[in-house]
Amino acid sequence: MNIPESFGKKVFDDRVMKSVLTAKEYASLKKTIDEGVQLDPHVADAVASAMKNWAVEKGATHFTHWFQPMTGVTAEKHDSFISPSPDGGVIMELSGKELIKGEPDASSFPSGGLRATFEARGYTAWDPTSYAFIKGKTLCIPTAFCTYAGDALDKKTPLLRSMEALNRQALRILRLFGNETAKRVLSAVGPEQEYFLITREMYEQRPDLKFTGRTLFGAKPPKGQEMDDHYFGVIKPKVAAFMEELNQELWELGILAKTEHNEVAPAQHELAPIYTTTNIATDHNQLTMEIMQKVAARHGLVCLLHEKPFAGVNGSGKHNNWSISTDTGTNLLSPGETPYENAQFLLFLCAVIKAVDDYQDLLRISVATAGNDHRLGANEAPPAVVSMFLGDELNAILEAIEKDTPYQSVEKVQMKLGVDVLPKFNRDTTDRNRTSPFAFTGNKFEFRMLGSSNSIACANIMLNSAVAESLKIYADRLEKADDFEETLHNMIRKTIQDHKRIIFNGNGYDDSWIREATEKRGLSNYRTTPDCMPHLLDKKNVDMLTSHGVFTLAELHSRCEIMLENYCKSVLIEANTMVDMAKTQIAPAVEAYMADVASAAAAKKSLIPDLPCRYETGLVRKLSLLVDQIQSQAEDLADALVKLETDAVIRESEMIRDTILPKMCELRLPCDEAETLTAREYWPYPTYGDLLFGVY
Ligand code: ADP
Ligand code: MG
Repeated sequence: MNIPESFGKKVFDDRVMKSVLTAKEYASLKKTIDEGVQLDPHVADAVASAMKNWAVEKGATHFTHWFQPMTGVTAEKHDSFISPSPDGGVIMELSGKELIKGEPDASSFPSGGLRATFEARGYTAWDPTSYAFIKGKTLCIPTAFCTYAGDALDKKTPLLRSMEALNRQALRILRLFGNETAKRVLSAVGPEQEYFLITREMYEQRPDLKFTGRTLFGAKPPKGQEMDDHYFGVIKPKVAAFMEELNQELWELGILAKTEHNEVAPAQHELAPIYTTTNIATDHNQLTMEIMQKVAARHGLVCLLHEKPFAGVNGSGKHNNWSISTDTGTNLLSPGETPYENAQFLLFLCAVIKAVDDYQDLLRISVATAGNDHRLGANEAPPAVVSMFLGDELNAILEAIEKDTPYQSVEKVQMKLGVDVLPKFNRDTTDRNRTSPFAFTGNKFEFRMLGSSNSIACANIMLNSAVAESLKIYADRLEKADDFEETLHNMIRKTIQDHKRIIFNGNGYDDSWIREATEKRGLSNYRTTPDCMPHLLDKKNVDMLTSHGVFTLAELHSRCEIMLENYCKSVLIEANTMVDMAKTQIAPAVEAYMADVASAAAAKKSLIPDLPCRYETGLVRKLSLLVDQIQSQAEDLADALVKLETDAVIRESEMIRDTILPKMCELRLPCDEAETLTAREYWPYPTYGDLLFGVY
């Protein structure tokens, strides 16, 4: 394939717009895209018609408003382009109105109480900043999804609002530093996506994988990831074929898939795209996850995006590489060439430090799901305690500023932020700290707590908003300052003093760190979703998010409700699946095997009456005890499920955390042990060994 030629060929991008619109239409649309100016209805008609012609030429027959409801996946409702013509035939049509606004029947999407049942409809509104694209035979128009009262029902709306908040506050800072040319400040993200590939045939045999996306049973295989022989290892032919086709599809959709490699666990892989503007990166990541699953199916494979598909084996996450830059291409998190630029850099750096410390709970909340609870703090992903890694050099600089002492490595200069005394410093080159939840990596931050199936929208909404808040506080002060440099210096110093507790350059997996973080530094450690989610409604969080117009109070209530509901539903499906598997497949399999072993012993004894048959007796005894345990623990779990209080979702989620999840662990133990004692041909499921080493 000719990559440059096919790249973006299914995208109605800038190149296409330029070629199919008149100069006037193009200029008007561009103004809408770049500056958010409302589109003239005539231009909307012209754009819609051009978009339709382009799509029909490429074989599209339908269009859809593509949106991201709170379910975590994307939604689409297809309408065909056909419209009756007076002669009894049809013409293919898309009007400006249809492009701009849609009305999906939205009553079944989660709204967390936002939408009264009598007004079930929501509407979708075109997001012109993300290009339309063709998927299959459908033109997909990226949209935001709201109630009629304007409350957001999706992840894109608050993301766009948070980008706007960041833009507004960052521009104020840039103006203070004399920058009059930048028109917009944008955050950009490059998400690194981890996933597992297993064979479809084995997947089909496991109800747990089919219903919940993860294995709920499974004894440890003789070989796991202990040899570290998979990480960056040679890619197996079947996987290579999958990756090749995946890349091709992603490139056609204008997604800059760049790097692919094997990950730590067997059967685990990673895909990283080149970074782009946050809302486009979010759309692209949703599409990437969807296309991964589709392409896998064509190759007889299944792509698992669950955070913890296999116990005892590393789970999958997503690294959110985040930076902010101007429309003129200056990365505001990049140390500059001159001391003046560096002072500006330090201020933005401090804004992030303050944001991460003040809103550590919001960052934790933004990645909270039942699946991700299994990873955070399990020595394979960052702990549930949020902290920041800055690297040695930057750390030394901040320390020097804080204490007004000379900064050692650069010719003993007194650290003052006055224009001419700040030393020039290089990008940090220290080894990356892989255990840090939030690491500075030279010119961007890598937020590493996201789960592999999370939409990146939530994390970036919180990140953008929290940083906007720091910048607002700084701008408020600096705009009123008599002595700009003195005020700047003091503010940076004060930020370091007040927020240095969030900076930690050591090993985040160490137990002693968790103790230090929580006991000495007072950082929060929310281990589970029910622990953290209610804090979304803490006053400081509500104040910050509403004051920047990112969420309304009603939207926050609805999100808290939806996220907890999602948590409850996910775990309850798992628990019910476990009870079902244990009772209807595992216990009967063990019984069948026991019966055969027992009749073998009986047969032997009938031939040679004084044979001791120790093997059979011992095995039957062990299995019999295990099967009793399996049965009683399955009953116990089933009972707990019946007794669950479901009136208030917070209470329900706490009961699930405190009683259901522990009982699920208890039921798993005898089942996994029985697996190690039961002959393979009796066991109803492919084992961990089969699943993890089955693709080649
Ligand atoms: P790693 O060593 O973690 O693979 P890379 O430099 O290859 O680091 O980048 C990983 C991801 O970070 C990629 O998606 C890349 O596009 C993205 N990235 C690089 N620079 C930036 C930036 N300035 N802002 C946001 N993301 C970035
Ligand atoms: Mg990385």
